[in-house]
Amino acid sequence: MKLCLNKAHFPVTVLGPGRRIGLWLQGCSIQCPGCMSRDTWQFDEHRAISVEAIVEWCQRIAQDQIDGITISGGEPFDQPEGLSELLDRLDTWRQTLPAPLDLLAYSGYPMARLRQRHAGTLAKLDAVISEPFVESQPTDGKWMGSANQRIVALSALGRERYSGVGESSHAVSTPGVQLHVESGRVWLVGIPQRGELQHLEYRCRENGISLKQASWRA
Ligand code: SF4
Repeated sequence: MKLCLNKAHFPVTVLGPGRRIGLWLQGCSIQCPGCMSRDTWQFDEHRAISVEAIVEWCQRIAQDQIDGITISGGEPFDQPEGLSELLDRLDTWRQTLPAPLDLLAYSGYPMARLRQRHAGTLAKLDAVISEPFVESQPTDGKWMGSANQRIVALSALGRERYSGVGESSHAVSTPGVQLHVESGRVWLVGIPQRGELQHLEYRCRENGISLKQASWRA
């Protein structure tokens, strides 16, 4: 079984609790206006990689210093069979670890649709952050891009780590993005507040750096 993968990174500290692996799947049929990850929209078979190879990479990179895995995209549920197998294999691996590791997925689909069409896959997750990104509904809620989105705990571990996180008392008080540079490209991980991407471009220009391509531009 293969999954189309855009990128993977560790450690991610802005998309879920603790130190996490981030997996961004390639391909999204939802295409929310204002999405900052337009580079993940196109389904691209050249980015297909075996689920086994992804899990081996996770095992190699994180060892025992990891709190969870965040699967984002792109739209993870647009590759349902691969996602399901990935979660099965990650679950087998996490049983061997000394500390609990939670599995979180983002989805732009409404929760009702996920429950209707992907109940089996939801049962393999600890939490999901659902609903499409809506540019006109900004939020300061932790780990979410817009106010309509919901964090839904799906297991005992999920309830322990995610219950109540979307409420206003958990508003973001620390920077919500990470930047890292790899092969001449700047990766921005996390969810910027409205206007931050334009500010980033402005500050880069001020310092003589021009961004030739940006994932948030058409
Ligand atoms: S925000 Fe997520 S669901 Fe919406 S277009 Fe972007 S990748 Fe797809």
